[in-house]
Amino acid sequence: MSTATLDWYGCATFRLRTPEGLTVFLDAYLDRVPDAERSGVEVDDVTEADWILVGHSHFDHLWGAERIAVRTGATVVGSYESVRILARLGVPEEQLLAVAGGERLALDATTVVRVLPSLHSCVWSSQPMPPADEVCLGELGLTLQERTAKMQALWAGLGALGDDVRAHLAAADLSERGDGGALVFVLDTSEGSVLFQDSIGCWSGVLGGESPDVAILAVAGRGNRDGEPVQGSTADFVAEQAAALGARRVVPCHHDDWLPGFSRAIDTAPIRAAVERASPGTALVDLGYADGHRLFESPLT
Ligand SMILES: [Zn+2]
Repeated sequence: MSTATLDWYGCATFRLRTPEGLTVFLDAYLDRVPDAERSGVEVDDVTEADWILVGHSHFDHLWGAERIAVRTGATVVGSYESVRILARLGVPEEQLLAVAGGERLALDATTVVRVLPSLHSCVWSSQPMPPADEVCLGELGLTLQERTAKMQALWAGLGALGDDVRAHLAAADLSERGDGGALVFVLDTSEGSVLFQDSIGCWSGVLGGESPDVAILAVAGRGNRDGEPVQGSTADFVAEQAAALGARRVVPCHHDDWLPGFSRAIDTAPIRAAVERASPGTALVDLGYADGHRLFESPLT
């Protein structure tokens, strides 16, 4: 008997297949810079997709959706900004669904997805990608203008990036207006429910009302709790969310070295330890690339 499977393709991109044969991409960033480890699947390899759910409008989540949608006929669900970009890139309007949180969509006769408002990580922070066990403090109460100035200083430092990364950034440039508003998706399938978060931030009151079987959580970047940078470590923030959700499994994402020279691989060992302390009933399940993880059945290793 077939069962739901989840394949990770690096960064925060996954493919979910349901027992009923539905293929759902969670984000669409498959084509990586030459130096990044390959997941084995690139946009040109994708021949089948029914839906693409995009968590936010940054290129490392959205880029690829425009080609997958056109090739497969998949419908893309994303923020109004993600949809604006995809329409400009030629995705037919009838394949675009703009959402902001609060919507409930039937993906087929058995699978339903709910859309929740969420928050992006604090990319503007002076510690934008700390190791998981590093405690980060401060930077509270900044205005948007102050955050923007910090962000510009950060970008000014990217001059050291190599030619491959620069060429990749140019190719993947979507001219997006910020993150476009981050979204979380909760899919209710015939076998169980899975929550998908592709950037480490949340409205704690919104997340606390959810109780998925599996939670895919972003574990890289300076966390964002209710609009302010997390005061503490990434590991403890992920553990806090895991405990609030009460999920049996947490699948980490965004923690590989997806853009060498810019990103860094995040060691998940401190996150695993923190989750075990805060939520003893939750297992952290590290996926390899494209390993056909049986989402609700695979052994908890
Ligand atoms: Zn982002």
